[in-house]
Amino acid sequence: MKYSHHFFFFSFRTFSYLANMLSRRFYSTTARKLITPLTSVKHPSLQRGPYKKLDTKDLEYFSQILSPQQIVTETEPYNIDFFNLYRGSSKLCIFPTTVQQVSSILKYCNDQRLAVVPQGGNTGVSGGAIPVFDEIIINTSKMNKIRSFDPVSGIVIADAGVILEELDQAIEPHGFTVPLDLGAKGSCQLGGNVSTNAGGLRLMRFGNLHGNVLGLEVVLPDGTIMDGLSSLRKDNTGYDLKQLFIGAEGTLGMVTGVCLLTPKRAKSINVAMLAMDSFDQVQSAFVAAKRDLCEILSAFEFWDHDSVELVQNTILQDQIFPMKGKISPFYALIETQGSREDHDMEKLDQYLGQLMEKGVIQNGVLAQDTTQIKSLWQWREKIPEAITVSGTAMTYDVSMNIRLFPQMMQDVKTHFESKGLLGSRYTNILGFGHVGDGNLHIMANMHGFDQKEQEEFDDYIFNWTIKHKGSLSAEHGVGIHKVDYMIKSKNPIQLQLMHKIKSTLDKKGIMNPYKVLP
Ligand code: FAD
Repeated sequence: MKYSHHFFFFSFRTFSYLANMLSRRFYSTTARKLITPLTSVKHPSLQRGPYKKLDTKDLEYFSQILSPQQIVTETEPYNIDFFNLYRGSSKLCIFPTTVQQVSSILKYCNDQRLAVVPQGGNTGVSGGAIPVFDEIIINTSKMNKIRSFDPVSGIVIADAGVILEELDQAIEPHGFTVPLDLGAKGSCQLGGNVSTNAGGLRLMRFGNLHGNVLGLEVVLPDGTIMDGLSSLRKDNTGYDLKQLFIGAEGTLGMVTGVCLLTPKRAKSINVAMLAMDSFDQVQSAFVAAKRDLCEILSAFEFWDHDSVELVQNTILQDQIFPMKGKISPFYALIETQGSREDHDMEKLDQYLGQLMEKGVIQNGVLAQDTTQIKSLWQWREKIPEAITVSGTAMTYDVSMNIRLFPQMMQDVKTHFESKGLLGSRYTNILGFGHVGDGNLHIMANMHGFDQKEQEEFDDYIFNWTIKHKGSLSAEHGVGIHKVDYMIKSKNPIQLQLMHKIKSTLDKKGIMNPYKVLP
C-alpha cells in the first residue's frame, strides 16, 4: 500500500446500515409540519380541462370490474408527492392487478372523458404522478409480478408495479443485477422508472433505459393493448414504438409490462470516498478515473460540504462521517465493478496513489466490505431525503458541461444571498450529482410555501441552464414543474411534433393532462 498517512482504509466498527434507503414513511404526511397548498391554487393560471367529474355511476362501474381492495377513496397519501411540493384533489385511486383491468379502466375513462394520472411508487420529483385537479389516480402497486427471467441472456419480463430493489433482489441469486440504481429504489417501480427514463447512480456504466428496455406492454388511452414485449436485442423492423413511451411520463399510455436486459452482477465491487479542495480537483479525479479505471468504473458522484453537514444533522446523527476532521469543500464517491478482485484493486491502488501524490485529493477512505460500501453510499444517497426533513424542498436536475457545475452553484448561491434568502427561509442550497453524466442536482430546503419565491428559483435556475445550453431535466422529467419552460427549451418544430403524437394517441387528452406539453 503506497498511500501517505492521509489515505486510510475504512475501519469503523460501529456502522448501523439502515437497510432500506427510503422508508415508506413519507406517506404518513400527518407527521409533516406543513402540507403544501393544492397545485391548482398555487398555479391559478391552470384551468381544469373539459373533463367529466367523477360520479356514483363511475364508482359503480369500477366496483363491477375491481374488488373493494382495489378501490380507495381515502386518497390523501396518493395526492401528495415525496418532496411535499405538489398536491391534487383526486377523489379516487384505483389499483388494477392485470393488463385487462387497465384496459377496461382506460376504455371506460376515455369513453366518459374522465382524466387519469398513472402512478407508480410516487417518488417522482416533477409532480408528474400527482393530479393537478381531480384526475383519477391509477396506481400500479398491485401489478407486481415478475413474469419470467432467462438466466442465459439476463432478460427479465416484469409487471410495471414491481419495485426496483425487489427486482434486483429477485435476480441476484442468478448472478444478475438491474442496470439502474437510485436512492428511491426501495419504493420506485419499474413502470415509473421507464416512464421517467430514470437515470441514477450507474448510468455512466450501463446507459439509460432507452438502451436497456427491449420491449414494453402498453395500454393506450382508448384501452387498446399494445403488446410489444419483445425480448430481441436487435430488431430493425420499422419504427421503434417503445421509445415513445420511455420518458413519456404517462402522457401517452399506461406501461403495464417491461422487458429489461440485465447485466451480470460484478464479482468485485470497490468504493472509495475522496475529499477535495476545489471542483477543479473533482474534475481532474474524474478525468483520471475514466483513463485509469476505464472498464471497471461504475459510478462517479460528487457533493459539497453543506450536503455532508445536513445529512449528519438530520438523518445520520448516530454515525461518524468517515472523513471527519478537516472540512473539505467537495467530496466524491468512486465505485468500481469488475470481475477480478486482485486486478481491480491493483488498478484502484495505482489510481488513488497517483491522486494522492499529485495532491489532487486531500484525504480518502476505501471501504473494506459490503457493509462499509453501503455506509459510504449513504452519505450521497441520503442527501435528497435529508433536505426534505425541513418539510419541503425544491429540487433541480439540470445537465450541462461539467466544467460549468461550480459556476452554476456559485451563481445560484450569490444570487439568492443577495436577495437575503440564504440563512433565512432557504438555509441550505446544496450541490451534488452524477459527475459521470454531467448531471448536477441543486436543492434548496424551504420552511414555507411562498409561490413567488419558488418561481424565482425556477426562473433563475432554468434560465441559467438554457443560457448555458444545458437541459432542464437530466433525469426527473418535465411533469408539471417544468412545463412552462418547454417553450424555451424545445424549438417550435419539436413541440409541434410532440403535440401531434399526443393528439394521435390520446385524442381526448385524458392521459396525465397539464403535464409535459405546454
Ligand atoms: P412515479 O413517481 O409514481 O411516477 C413518475 C412519472 O411516471 C409520472 O409522470 C407518472 O404519471 C408516470 N408513471 C408512473 N408509472 C407509470 C406507468 N406504469 N405507466 C405510465 N406512466 C407511469 N430519479 C433519477 O432518475 N435518478 C436518481 O438518482 C433519483 N434519485 C432519487 C432519490 C430520491 C430520494 C427520490 C425521492 C427520487 C429520486 N429520483 C431519481 C426520482 C424518482 O425516483 C424517479 O423518477 C423514478 O423513476 C420514479 O418512479 P416511481 O415509480 O416512483 O414513479
